[in-house]
Amino acid sequence: MLVLMLRVVDRSRSILKVSGGVRCIRNVRLSRKSTQMLSRTSLASRSNDGSNLCTQNQRAFSGDGLGLQSQFNQHAARGAKPLIKQAKICGSSKMVLVGWDDGTVSRYPFVWLRANCRCNTCWHHDAYGRISLMEDLDIDIEPTGVKVSTQGSEIEIHWPDNHLSPFEASLLKDVTFKEDVRKKNIRLWGSELLDELPTHQFDEIMSDDTKLLNFLEDLRDVGLTLMKGVPTETGNVEKIAERISYIKRVNNGYVLTLKSKANPSNIADTGFKLGLHTDFSHHYHTAGITALHCIQQSTIGGESMFADGFKTALQLKEENPAAFQILCDFHCDFIQKNKHKTEFYTKCAWPTFSFDRHGNLAEVHYDHTSRDIRLRMPVEKVYQYFKAIKTYDDLIHRPENTVNFRMQPGDMVMVNNIRILHGRKAFQVTEGAERHFEIAFLDWDGVYSRIRCLREKLGMPFHEY
Ligand SMILES: [Zn+2]
Repeated sequence: MLVLMLRVVDRSRSILKVSGGVRCIRNVRLSRKSTQMLSRTSLASRSNDGSNLCTQNQRAFSGDGLGLQSQFNQHAARGAKPLIKQAKICGSSKMVLVGWDDGTVSRYPFVWLRANCRCNTCWHHDAYGRISLMEDLDIDIEPTGVKVSTQGSEIEIHWPDNHLSPFEASLLKDVTFKEDVRKKNIRLWGSELLDELPTHQFDEIMSDDTKLLNFLEDLRDVGLTLMKGVPTETGNVEKIAERISYIKRVNNGYVLTLKSKANPSNIADTGFKLGLHTDFSHHYHTAGITALHCIQQSTIGGESMFADGFKTALQLKEENPAAFQILCDFHCDFIQKNKHKTEFYTKCAWPTFSFDRHGNLAEVHYDHTSRDIRLRMPVEKVYQYFKAIKTYDDLIHRPENTVNFRMQPGDMVMVNNIRILHGRKAFQVTEGAERHFEIAFLDWDGVYSRIRCLREKLGMPFHEY
């Protein structure tokens, strides 16, 4: 009778208890009614409440104690699927304890298990989101039973309202409840990077997922990458941006043409030197990545310059803590205004250095060109503010802190625009052979998304960031 009520769907599996035995049925999902019927077949592993039981369980589960992290790493390293050996309810801690085949124990709060139920009535597998509502969640709910599938690849939790929650072992193993464990492998650099600049080939990135992943992870960790072999025609910065994720639209459009013009709407459209800066500090949602494609280089000048905003910020903190503090504290307005084409007037205030909730440097916003004339600070402090900026500007332009090279036609550079400063030396405007670059911007959301998708596709872990 139970079998008749099974509804075949295209993913996941459920555990079916038949005649006292448990077997795992693939590609089968239970309807709500059959789930309720199944859950009435009581499960044996309901523990009695009591704190000492939980302690005993943990001790029993813990096995060889806490050399567990290394075992987990070995497990992950060899790519083995995690298997569940035991699962128990601990009433005193209001958690389900799961013992793994690698000797480790994980704990999952009752309310978390119910709120994250992956059954068809609680979770939409195609839309990847919860159907269950917070208003229906009983935060004090306690399970009536927990059962491990014979293969150890899944547990099912039974609830007093006859609801049944299946959880795959791989999903549970991926949940750590640790405080932010995402590791950043940021590599700080100075002029020495020139000899080991991460360099990639356009056609390989366009056609090979592993090459694309390597490129994006270099961009994430180093913040500056060079791509060679990009066709020297317009439209390629758009192609690469779409291969990664999407172009971020800015005031002037999706792709900006950088040429010296008779009537420039931006200082970048002249032959003047551009000091080291970040782009779009006048935006709340500052572009995460700037991509520059060299189609035609100037005959004289126009060398590109780069500096690591994080490394130089830390250096400033070391050398001149007072200046560093001023640049952390003061929120400077940046503006951009255009009266030539599309009318816009963007403005935003940023400190030079901002930090994440752990106190680590998160963003650098530095641009002399677009700093507003209005400074919202006591007039007596203006001199000290400029002194701090000048100190930092001297520091970032030191030879040991800058990477300078002349981009060739067919080169594309991508920089982390909230960390790396970029600029260019003045160039001679030559009629008939104008320096011609295309520029586009991307968001880190799109880049991180592509990294996660690629890592998932290539069978690599990605939960650490
Ligand atoms: Zn459910």
